[in-house]
Amino acid sequence: MNGPRVALVTGGNKGIGYETARGLGQTGATVLVGARDPGRGATAAEKLAAEGIATVPLDLDVTDPVSVSAAAARVEREYGRLDILVNNAGILLERGQKPSQLPTEALRQTYATNVYGVVAVTNALLPLIQRAPAGRIVNVSSGLGSLTLTSDPHNPYAQFPLLAYNSSKSALNALTVAYANELRDTPIKVNAADPGYCATDLNRHSGPRTPAQGATIVIRLATLPDNGPTGAFFTEDGPQPW
Ligand code: NAP
Repeated sequence: MNGPRVALVTGGNKGIGYETARGLGQTGATVLVGARDPGRGATAAEKLAAEGIATVPLDLDVTDPVSVSAAAARVEREYGRLDILVNNAGILLERGQKPSQLPTEALRQTYATNVYGVVAVTNALLPLIQRAPAGRIVNVSSGLGSLTLTSDPHNPYAQFPLLAYNSSKSALNALTVAYANELRDTPIKVNAADPGYCATDLNRHSGPRTPAQGATIVIRLATLPDNGPTGAFFTEDGPQPW
């Protein structure tokens, strides 16, 4: 197939998504910077352009079915296929509440973005990913979604009792396996990335890692060779337990 790879990063206007867009742009891919706010998407693309990385802002609110289908229609019209989908957009609403104190509404809102948004975007774009020669889907998960790590009382992750966020990422991990199983006999690879604890707006910049460090594993999984894994969960250092 001719031309550079076409990549879409949801929530690409800041944080780990922005750094992923930047890194994929540096590989020569045509990167669509998904942003729910058109102004923020345009600003991000301008910032990248100032560094010599050409990207295309794409209006995309993953919780809005009209926005999702409009974005998919635009990708089809303008590119005819999608080689890389990075489901990065995510929210963390908890501000210190214990699980037993969290309103159900916080769970609903979190799942709307972190879980249902991923399904809506993936399903809308899968026909276009199937037209690419070697489609890659990366779901940006978290070590906090690992039941193995969070159920070990000696693991630092057990000290983050974020009911909505953590369980949304566990669900995302389950979705990753489900899509990988469905697509196992195709060239498409579907994996989950744990970027590690990075300083971004999501956590009020409390993480020790930079967003660029967080994007490293995301970019690696987005550009896996044909003999790479599918249906797996990785940090930059290697496999992460589910
Ligand atoms: P961030 O800086 O807050 O960025 C989140 C991005 O998602 C923003 O671009 C945001 O857009 C976008 N977004 C939120 N809701 C959206 C929606 N409905 N539709 C489209 N875009 C939406 O956070 P981040 O830390 O980079 O997070 C990126 C991903 O990494 C998330 O999935 C997060 O769970 C995951 N992660 C982060 C860490 C960490 O330590 N930071 C660790 C593990 C996993 P706006 O600018 O419009 O709000």
